[in-house]
Amino acid sequence: MAEQILINDLSRHASSTETAVRASVERVLRSGWYVLGKDGEAFERDFAAYCDTKHCVGVANGTDAIELGLRALGVRAGSRVASVANAGHYTTTALMALAAEPVFVDVDRDTKLMDLAHLRQVAEEGVIDAVVVTHLFGLLHDMEAVLDITAPLGIPVFEDCAQAHGARRGGRRAGGFGAAAGFSFYPTKNLGALGDGGAVVTGSAEVAERVRHLRQYGWEAKYHASVRGGRNSRLDEIQAAILRAKLPFLDGWNERRRAIARRYSTEITHPRVRCPAVHGEEFVAHLYVLTSDDRDGLRTHLAKAAIRTDVHYPVPDYRQPCLTEFKGWAGLPVTDELASSILTLPCFPELSDDEVTRVISCVNAW
Ligand SMILES: *Cc1c(COP(=O)(O)O)cnc(C)c1O
Repeated sequence: MAEQILINDLSRHASSTETAVRASVERVLRSGWYVLGKDGEAFERDFAAYCDTKHCVGVANGTDAIELGLRALGVRAGSRVASVANAGHYTTTALMALAAEPVFVDVDRDTKLMDLAHLRQVAEEGVIDAVVVTHLFGLLHDMEAVLDITAPLGIPVFEDCAQAHGARRGGRRAGGFGAAAGFSFYPTKNLGALGDGGAVVTGSAEVAERVRHLRQYGWEAKYHASVRGGRNSRLDEIQAAILRAKLPFLDGWNERRRAIARRYSTEITHPRVRCPAVHGEEFVAHLYVLTSDDRDGLRTHLAKAAIRTDVHYPVPDYRQPCLTEFKGWAGLPVTDELASSILTLPCFPELSDDEVTRVISCVNAW
């Protein structure tokens, strides 16, 4: 039996970064300071510089980054927020926590990103107060086209960059286009901690300040809670130090991910498989997602050859059982179609060339 090819193998990632990570952890351990200190501040500076944004505020995870970022932009109970329903329910979870109302927008069949004609329609109908754009699977959306629609109407845009660390279009990084943006540093992300972590980046000092208050009980100063909706959502020093140590490797990892994706898209030639287009720097290949009219058949075929796959994501948000208000809703045609045809292949920096070749041969032999 051939060796298993996993969808992601973080133990390989751990060994490639062990020296840098170990030194960071030991430094924090000896410092005697574990929450909101020097490493957190240094990471916020480093990551803001990397994204080419003015401000970065560390938070506890990527879902909190969306929730607190949107709250800082003025999203409240009852606010209507446009977002996609094919991105794993994270934004919807944040909207539920805010008691805001999701306005689901369909996606483009090729890019799998928010459909801009549909966004224009809901924006011009006047039924939305904000937009969350998710750079799904690592593909930075055409943010200039998004802002052409929203800016004249004064609608703020929040970028969900949890899968797109470092993606670049026209020299600008993911997170530098919207009014604010959220990142996750969950271990499997392109930049991952050894636990949970997240950040909000923004060009606005005021928005950054509001997130700083919201992440710590709504405190304006110690024990003085001036902002409602606050909570405890801080990025630990140990995670910040690990992220700082790993950040210099991010562009190299993204380049390797992109090279694997490029090979899949050019060498997979099976007539019943549709591969995503070959992209440049705007794509950081967080996940490699193809489509097939017999997704489950292909999945079984690969499993028999010890190649693991996954489905990101099988259930559109509006079909999740907890969203009872959407029960019986007709749904969105492309979002529904993709949910039953998408399949994720292994794509992570430590995957070897031979393993990539094995995956390609196996798909083509289906
Ligand atoms: C992972 C992810 C999130 C949530 O991040 P957590 O740190 O797990 O809360 C949000 N949006 C997208 C697109 C993600 O992939």
